[in-house]
Amino acid sequence: MDPLAHASIGLMARPAAPKAPLWALLLATQVPDLLFFGFEALGLEHQAETAPLDLSTGLVYLSPAHMPWSHGLVMAVAWSLLAGIPSGLILCDRRAGGVIGLTVFSHWFLDFIVYPNMPVFFTDRPMIGAGLVTSGPGLIAGILLEVILIAGGLAAFIHYRKKQRSNQ
Ligand SMILES: [Zn+2]
Repeated sequence: MDPLAHASIGLMARPAAPKAPLWALLLATQVPDLLFFGFEALGLEHQAETAPLDLSTGLVYLSPAHMPWSHGLVMAVAWSLLAGIPSGLILCDRRAGGVIGLTVFSHWFLDFIVYPNMPVFFTDRPMIGAGLVTSGPGLIAGILLEVILIAGGLAAFIHYRKKQRSNQ
């Protein structure tokens, strides 16, 4: 999923954790993709090969992705805990830590909706995912979902800031 659509979850999460810095929430939404770049550079992970995008067929996979460390379900839970627990301790706020952890996990969940090939463990089987992008109508629904998320994130954040200002 698009980084902006992931980031919108950080904006939506902000009212739930006033003590969590906005930059930390936005960064949290990108953790699996940032880790992927690192693991890819180390030669541990690679992206799937796909055919040129065609709106009538959706995304056609030519070879599977391999990203169990950054995008596996087990590791998504681990990264969420690894981000959430220290954040909660540093900010002296369990709620902020919990929200930061959940925000990290939101990345996996959104990717799960969109892609068909999310690893669970450290092997390439099983792969799970709702795979919205693998059909023409699904691909369009996926793009709409991203637009709705971005608009929703911005609206939630603007509403929150207005409320904060009127409380001052
Ligand atoms: Zn991702």
